[in-house]
Amino acid sequence: VPAIRLRNLTKTFGSKGFNETRAVDGVDLDIRQGEFFSMLGPSGSGKTTVLRLIAGFELPTSGTIELEGADVSGKAPFQRDVNTVFQDYALFPHMSLVDNVAYGLRVRGMKKAERRERAIESLERVQLGKFMQRRPSQLSGGQRQRVALARALVVEPKVLLLDEPLGALDLKLRQQMQIELKELQRSLGITFIFVTHDQEEALTMSDRIGVFNNGKLAQIGTAHEIYQRP
Ligand code: ADP
Ligand code: ADP
Repeated sequence: VPAIRLRNLTKTFGSKGFNETRAVDGVDLDIRQGEFFSMLGPSGSGKTTVLRLIAGFELPTSGTIELEGADVSGKAPFQRDVNTVFQDYALFPHMSLVDNVAYGLRVRGMKKAERRERAIESLERVQLGKFMQRRPSQLSGGQRQRVALARALVVEPKVLLLDEPLGALDLKLRQQMQIELKELQRSLGITFIFVTHDQEEALTMSDRIGVFNNGKLAQIGTAHEIYQRP
């Protein structure tokens, strides 16, 4: 079974005849397990809305979302085995890194000592173990991005959704993080769904790319298939 299966997925905002926007318009898409899949397209093409529908932050107007064969279309975010990394990181400024990362485990009823141990492991995986007592303000942009990753991965999701996670970084750091992200994804074998409007980024990182335009999936294939068309 695919990690994600979208069928005729549609999301409209506003109401008929009044500011109606068809943000996502009849999308059919299968994303394979362990795949690095990028959603590419101009601003307003519906990428973020597809991601939010998969995460459960929005409910579809029509159509279905399956995770590993189970229909989750009406389920709440915490009932879905996915986690999200946003562009603005959304770290808690008053908490240490280890507490930031452990926070995600609190709702799952895990004991404090175990939460801490898992959080440290997760920080070590992104090379931030030695900074675990720092606050987010004492870190660089790239380091903050790694904390956000550690926090998303600590719950061991089957699918990680990334919404322009490198958008706030300068070019050099961005290129370095592209390599790190790709390596992390390979070593963990998790399905990554990565939203970007940057062709170069999609090209270097993805197993496959879905190109969105006007709420529709306009094209899908490997970077080679998409860019080397005769
Ligand atoms: P992208 O991520 O490709 O930039 P979005 O999914 O954010 O595109 O947006 C797709 C379209 O849906 C845009 O026209 C946007 O203005 C609209 N849209 C997105 N979210 C909302 C919302 N909560 N309310 C109204 N319109 C929205
Ligand atoms: P993106 O980086 O994908 O372009 P935006 O900055 O457009 O994202 O949107 C950020 C948030 O605002 C999202 O939660 C989206 O759903 C919401 N949003 C986007 N467009 C609109 C809109 N026209 N009306 C209301 N909310 C919107």
